[in-house]
Amino acid sequence: MQYSFKLNLLNEDDTQNLAIFLAKNIAQGVIYLIGDLGAGKTTLTRYWLQHLGHQGAVKSPTYTLVEPYKIQQQDVFHFDLYRLNDPYELELMGIRDYLDIENALFLFEWPSKGGDEIPSAHYVVNIEKTDDDQHRVVTLTFDDITFLKVLEQHFPS
Ligand code: ADP
Ligand code: MG
Repeated sequence: MQYSFKLNLLNEDDTQNLAIFLAKNIAQGVIYLIGDLGAGKTTLTRYWLQHLGHQGAVKSPTYTLVEPYKIQQQDVFHFDLYRLNDPYELELMGIRDYLDIENALFLFEWPSKGGDEIPSAHYVVNIEKTDDDQHRVVTLTFDDITFLKVLEQHFPS
């Protein structure tokens, strides 16, 4: 991917602000959420879906692999592939039926476990913990120049 943008997230409020920004600026497509356990992938997803208008819980789909949402007419699929042993299991669970849904938003935690069964990303959100575990550093990568401009405007360095 062509562009990348780095952000320091000092606390969970910063994570929430990023989630709100992403919710406003990415309506659909495939998003990879990359980072260690406890980095904040599910937290970011939770704020993202809440900002879209979802009320109620955002469960971590660790065992179900996917949690579907319909939020203000928008289809959203939150995948967590952490427990996936073999990408082929995604075939068996019918991932194609989800992926065929037009204009949907797909959020993937642990996309590396999905192999060739999952589509390539439009946006990658890489979250790293700082050494002391207190903060997060996020790197966004993407191909959309307009998105970069909006990011730079919203998060001036
Ligand atoms: P993951 O889904 O990546 O395994 P979770 O979202 O379940 O991680 O957990 C992330 C943890 O990190 C939560 O305890 C959350 O409060 C915390 N957290 C989120 N954002 C930040 C941040 N910017 N700085 C410090 N802690 C954060
Ligand atoms: Mg998680």
